[in-house]
Amino acid sequence: MLRRHRTTARSILLALLVAGSLAGPSAASAAVPKLAFPVVGPVSYTNDFGDPRGSGWHQGNDLMGKRRQPVVAAEPGRVTIYRGSSRAGCMLYLYGASGTVYYYIHLNDDLTKRDDNRATDCRVGVAYAPGLKSGMRVRAGHLIGFLGNSGDARGIQPHLHFEVRPNGGRPVNPYRHLGNADRLLFARPLGADQVKLDLMGKVVKTTQETFSMKVNRVGVTTSASRSSKRWLGRTITLAHTEETVWKRKLADGTMVPASTAKAKPGERVTVWTPWFKPLLRTQRAKPGILTAERVRLRGEG
Ligand SMILES: [Zn+2]
Repeated sequence: MLRRHRTTARSILLALLVAGSLAGPSAASAAVPKLAFPVVGPVSYTNDFGDPRGSGWHQGNDLMGKRRQPVVAAEPGRVTIYRGSSRAGCMLYLYGASGTVYYYIHLNDDLTKRDDNRATDCRVGVAYAPGLKSGMRVRAGHLIGFLGNSGDARGIQPHLHFEVRPNGGRPVNPYRHLGNADRLLFARPLGADQVKLDLMGKVVKTTQETFSMKVNRVGVTTSASRSSKRWLGRTITLAHTEETVWKRKLADGTMVPASTAKAKPGERVTVWTPWFKPLLRTQRAKPGILTAERVRLRGEG
């Protein structure tokens, strides 16, 4: 038992040393920078780090989502591909520039919408992003893979098992880092210096300079490809200018000119952006960063 009421220099020093050693794990996780959230689109997850699992304990967080949801680099770094372990399935490691290493486990091995496990060889374009090569350097927000349920996750809901290992050591709880991470509107395709987006959803509100919409689907076009993902209900605010072209598509298919003022909250809308460089800033899509080039309203006006 500690002696009370007698604080000596020695006991203060001791207390500092104890505090120092207790600070070990948080000092290690201080090496983890602010992350780009590793999955694009809605996922659900809980603070399941450390939960008992089979013979051991859970060393990451499980981000539950849909098969083939885009998986992106959480920070800039170098990617190593690991194919086909029976437990982890299709996985990759991201060696972050900060020194932190991230494990991405159970990437997609299905060729159809079903749980068919037909790509057990963990293919590029199925488990890994088109164009991804082991050893490749990527930026935060680059598409690196697709969410799935390979390995011992087969038969259960597709999810990304995500681990965070400061300085490549023992895993720390990713939960706080995920909570603090930037949610991206879209994944940056590898090798794409320019992209344009088509966004479908509903009008929230318009002002002189901005246009807010609840996005349900995001299409990403590059010079080489187009992909489209459902995205449930994220509200974003775009800038619009005098050059923005506003049209309304009537029920009979006729297109008529429209304007900002005629956009009604709740009506269906599709917005196209101009080509732009898909930097992280645009992927975060904070208000006014993306610009509307064309707007097509779908209500009756
Ligand atoms: Zn897991």
